[in-house]
Amino acid sequence: MALSPSDRELLHEEKLRAVGQLVGGIAHDFNNLLLLITFCSDQLLAQIPAGDASRKTVSSISDAVGRASILTRQLLAFSQRQVMDLKVIDLNKVLLRAEQMYCRLINPDVQLKLNLARDQVAVKIDVDQFETVLLNLVMNAQDAMRNGGQLTIETGNEESTDAVNDDTLSPNTNRRVVLRVTDTGCGMSEEVKSRMFEPYFTTKPPEKGTGLGLAVAHGIVCQMNGAIRVDSNIGMGTTIEIRFPAANMADSSFSPEVSNGDDARGVETILLVEDENELRQFLKTNLETHGYCVLDARHGPAAIAVAIRFGKKIDLLLTDVELPEMSGYAVAEALRADDPDMPTIFMSGYGGPDAVCESSSNKDVFLLKPFRITQLLQKVNEVLRRRGAPGLQRSEVATIAADSR
Ligand code: ADP
Ligand code: MG
Repeated sequence: MALSPSDRELLHEEKLRAVGQLVGGIAHDFNNLLLLITFCSDQLLAQIPAGDASRKTVSSISDAVGRASILTRQLLAFSQRQVMDLKVIDLNKVLLRAEQMYCRLINPDVQLKLNLARDQVAVKIDVDQFETVLLNLVMNAQDAMRNGGQLTIETGNEESTDAVNDDTLSPNTNRRVVLRVTDTGCGMSEEVKSRMFEPYFTTKPPEKGTGLGLAVAHGIVCQMNGAIRVDSNIGMGTTIEIRFPAANMADSSFSPEVSNGDDARGVETILLVEDENELRQFLKTNLETHGYCVLDARHGPAAIAVAIRFGKKIDLLLTDVELPEMSGYAVAEALRADDPDMPTIFMSGYGGPDAVCESSSNKDVFLLKPFRITQLLQKVNEVLRRRGAPGLQRSEVATIAADSR
């Protein structure tokens, strides 16, 4: 039976979703292993004296883990399971900052032009993730303009009209922000256009292309409630358009003070929930070395039992998100029945499509696996100190909670 073009498109979408699910699952399990390798090699490094030849070997392990975690992060992005740190920001500012970097990065035959909207273009995005998307688009444009050309990055505010009606965009608002990246390069055939968002699809030689750039960009943009589309013809250049729902600059959140993990020493009580035994032991030992009192549990019900037995105030909940029995979110919710202000750090290598929505308060912080112990200590210190600053959070929490639905 012949499939109609729309059936074929649907099948294609289904296929991509299935691949995304598989890839996301593998990347998640992999992250746990990488985290363990990172901890072990960091611990070894701390024990090997400076000048010892084996330091180099252990450093190579750390470097390889670093590269592997970039790959798992890309796979999670493609499968739309990144942990997102969404903030309201003026997109123009992000672009002006990126421009300086691109000027150094792209080849001198390519002229970069920024065509920014006069007004603010407020969007709610994860800036780091967005920069990844932009970099991928800029690199693609440069690859398409081997003999030079013009690269234009444009922003604008627009009201939704039939012409730009896009079903894939969240329909909460009809005000949108549009970003256009246009090149005067070689353009794409119909075949390439139909496959460009597939992971590992590339028309470049192996040492040049991974085929992950646009798959990752697509995943990230969709997870940030945006839509991405392409307009391209062979020999006529390419325009990639990304649309986000417009946000309100008034909702722009404050940025907490950042401390450096090294001076983080605490006396507070932390409840640690992690099902991977070895990992839990590592985290516990390290936190204890830094002065914290650590209660630990293997899963949610055990954590609740420990908290009841402890009977005193727990200063911080540090929990894995993916746990047997009940999720990290459910553990936090249960414990907050007694202490609604309990700060929580969620450790996850696998944000899940609801990661952002489920975290309904800015007391919640996500730590993406794999992380380094210094990053964990920094976060713990930051969250505890934020709790210590009186009078600030309540109203902020309310705004952000209402906003992140
Ligand atoms: P990669 O750049 O590693 O090949 P991408 O996912 O970024 O992977 O892109 C996939 C393919 O889409 C590219 O190999 C190229 O054929 C095509 N493509 C992407 N962007 C452009 C562009 N701006 N102009 C022409 N072709 C493009
Ligand atoms: Mg690319």
